[in-house]
Amino acid sequence: MGMFADARRLVRLGLDLFFPRRCLGCDDELLLDDHLVCGRCRVALVQDPVRRCAKCASELVQPRKTRGSCPVCRERAFAFRGVVAALRYRGPVRAIVLAIKFGRRAEGVTVLADRLVAELEAHGVLRRIDVVVPIPLHPLRRLTRGFDQAELLAAAVADRIGKPLLRHVLRRRRNTRRQATLRRSERADNLRSGFAPGILSFSVRGRRVLLVDDVLTSGATAHAAAIVLRACKANSVTVAVAARG
Ligand SMILES: [Zn+2]
Ligand SMILES: [Zn+2]
Repeated sequence: MGMFADARRLVRLGLDLFFPRRCLGCDDELLLDDHLVCGRCRVALVQDPVRRCAKCASELVQPRKTRGSCPVCRERAFAFRGVVAALRYRGPVRAIVLAIKFGRRAEGVTVLADRLVAELEAHGVLRRIDVVVPIPLHPLRRLTRGFDQAELLAAAVADRIGKPLLRHVLRRRRNTRRQATLRRSERADNLRSGFAPGILSFSVRGRRVLLVDDVLTSGATAHAAAIVLRACKANSVTVAVAARG
């Protein structure tokens, strides 16, 4: 066994000479035993012990005063059941998300998917999920980029939890009017119209959906997608994101 391990190290050393491996989080060169992320950045990949809103997973400023829900969720009702966020969108986590998004380091998806699945397990969500659905990019953007980072993440999560990945359930609508040109009351509707049922939307009927995206900030996009999924008779929609803004 020792011999095999030595051989593996030699091969890796050889590869590193030609393709120096760099950390996904900080771009420093990795040590021989590091996998994708250096020791310093790995610390950032552990969930911070922050109190989060029970519904939308935003950070709570005064958790005691607000009894576990944030100001937004006390004002409005999101169409999803809840949000599970693996990490906070900052520092090395942000760097990894951007490295995937701009196509430099697609392998970073494995790091985020591992963390996200651990978080889903910790929240007991996996028992309440039948299918995995990615939030789709706009087709034009997908075409120019060549891939869809939310779909890569959703595929990695589906693979790890052994649930089917359903694509073409949602499709992105073109935003015909720019947000800035709309009155405030019209803006929410414009966002809501950002999704329409895709050609395979019937496949979520009666299913409990895990809706996957890479980053969640206000929750408006996930809400808009969840409305369409519920209209397609999905039983429930739980949102899973690698990072919460
Ligand atoms: Zn690093
Ligand atoms: Zn909230």
